[in-house]
Amino acid sequence: MDNNRTFTMIKPDAFSEGNTGAILQKITNSGFKIVALKLTQLTPEKAKAFYAVHKDKPFFENLINFMVSGPIVAAILEKKNAVEDFRTLIGATNPEDAAEGTIRNLFASSMSKNAIHGSDSDENAAIEGAFHFNENEILNH
Ligand code: UDP
Ligand code: MG
Repeated sequence: MDNNRTFTMIKPDAFSEGNTGAILQKITNSGFKIVALKLTQLTPEKAKAFYAVHKDKPFFENLINFMVSGPIVAAILEKKNAVEDFRTLIGATNPEDAAEGTIRNLFASSMSKNAIHGSDSDENAAIEGAFHFNENEILNH
């Protein structure tokens, strides 16, 4: 499977705090090319479907409430080894554990309000990208 694309969402905390521009700049400065980009807001139905893998976790309801609480920015990003390199760029789920200079280290405030999503596998990157974008919304070059 191709390993050159990943999917991200700038989460409601980062968007409402005005960090979208700084985060996108850090992403592009790190060698990722934006091939799809959208400002949107998740409905409860869409948020539950997106995070279905976590539906039995204790934090699920809190996660859904947070993810629908305001606008998000969804994007598909292109780079060699995209999924792994992007997870490195965003840092650990808990910002207290996120390495210095990572997006979560710089912009996240808690384990739940952690600023940004990054796909965890090539398979999920494809599924999550298709969840948010039609083929004609993605740059082909
Ligand atoms: N999350 C949370 N509490 C937890 C674990 C996760 O609120 O104990 C939230 C957090 O926003 C996280 C998302 O659920 O980004 C998805 O969790 P996952 O373990 O997939 O972390 P990620 O892949 O985003 O690092
Ligand atoms: Mg995850």
